[in-house]
Amino acid sequence: MPDEEIFFEDLDLSDDVLDALYDMRFEKCTPVQARCIPPILENRDVLGVAQTGTGKTAAYLLPLLTLLQRHEHPADSVNCLVIAPTRELARQIDQALQGFAYYTRVNAVAVYGGNDGVRYEQERRSLQAGADIVLATPGRLITHLQLGTLDLSRTTHLVLDEADRMLDMGFADDILSIVKQMPAERQTILFSATMPPKIAELARTVMHDPVEVEIAVSKPAENIQQSVYLCREGDKPLVLRHIFDKQPPQRVILFCSSKQKVKELSIVLQRKGYNARAMHSDLEQSERDEVMQLFRSQQIDLLVATDIVARGIDIDDITMVINYDAPHDAEDYVHRIGRTARAGRQGCAVTLIGERDRYGLQNIERTLQIEIPRAELPEGVRPPSSEGDSRKRPAGQRGKDSKREGKQGGEGSSAKRHRGGHRTRPQGAQAAGQSSQPGDQVAAQAATDGAKADEQKKRRHKPRRRKRPAGERPAGERPADERPAEPNQNE
Ligand code: AMP
Repeated sequence: MPDEEIFFEDLDLSDDVLDALYDMRFEKCTPVQARCIPPILENRDVLGVAQTGTGKTAAYLLPLLTLLQRHEHPADSVNCLVIAPTRELARQIDQALQGFAYYTRVNAVAVYGGNDGVRYEQERRSLQAGADIVLATPGRLITHLQLGTLDLSRTTHLVLDEADRMLDMGFADDILSIVKQMPAERQTILFSATMPPKIAELARTVMHDPVEVEIAVSKPAENIQQSVYLCREGDKPLVLRHIFDKQPPQRVILFCSSKQKVKELSIVLQRKGYNARAMHSDLEQSERDEVMQLFRSQQIDLLVATDIVARGIDIDDITMVINYDAPHDAEDYVHRIGRTARAGRQGCAVTLIGERDRYGLQNIERTLQIEIPRAELPEGVRPPSSEGDSRKRPAGQRGKDSKREGKQGGEGSSAKRHRGGHRTRPQGAQAAGQSSQPGDQVAAQAATDGAKADEQKKRRHKPRRRKRPAGERPAGERPADERPAEPNQNE
């Protein structure tokens, strides 16, 4: 299927899932969603080559939630198992799931961390009560299987997310032994950022005639000179000063990953005498226009910004992009640094990697299959502690830290049960175009063909989810600040 614009409304997703998407302001599918959702809804196996940042989590969660709602599944068994390599990814999937499943009655248990007995006990009890979806890291899952607290003999849907990373971490045998416990008649969905031969082999072993979906990775332009400073979080200001001492900032964008940091850093830089301004989504549109106009006309040297300017700004003479924090994923990295070296020019992209950015760097380098040159730290700046060095390990060599995270998890959350909010729909709030009420069917039949076509046309470009009168919150519904998160909150 070509990557034409597809709206979620065009797909055969359940109404409850569409409602959550409406709340989250998700309207159009990303390419991986447009291409994966239909075959998953048909119960086909899907082999997806796509990275974090492409929308792959929704690409499998949305149709799976729909299938779990649509077809009868035993209440006392685990019906769907999602395995992710790290607690961090598992947590992200868990958060996305909470949003997408908000209006469904699908329940989920997350088992990905916490070493103490209390957590184990919570997980054990949750698992034994049955869960539509279990979300887990492989090591933890194996422990539950060995202890007999998890039965996968009736699990009909399996997702292996970031499978290449799981194999890099040495989980190949664990995955195979998990799969062996599941029925042969199941749906298997496998996502991987890359497609090395070992993934192709795993796919052949665990999948049945999969639909293959490959989303090309965008690559940074060759005329961008990239480098990273591996430093301590607290030394980032010193590294930044060193960069500016070498080359006073002019036509520079400095990206931070939160608006708070943008605000703080721009004030600090202004106080130090730099001609800097902040750009983030808390500014009014007129203020944003003004800042961009000042930057465009070279009245500002240094734009301190969130990802709000990472895409589609039409300024061709930016000489340098600095990432004060690692971007969330490779896609964001490519977009950010793509602000420089435009229109045939040369450009420079420097990324500061503190302790918290290590995972991000690893992800970017793995996905783009590059190793970004390390810049030498300025005199007086301490090198980072060796623990958690994100340089790639030789193939086959297992990451100790990663393995520990996968195998046992550390501090942090453990068993968690979230149920979709069971809301009562306000009278008359039935989504247009649905005919679950007899009256609706009569009304639909009475409509002329022309009126129907008009309505359909309108719906394609406008979300039609249940709109509640302002201020009205159906009983049992979560307040707005607990609703599914909207995307790009940090911008
Ligand atoms: P993922 O690749 O699943 O990690 O998703 C990357 C980010 O894109 C997440 O923050 C999602 O919330 C967001 N996202 C996924 N699909 C869509 C969509 N169709 N529209 C807007 N944002 C999306």
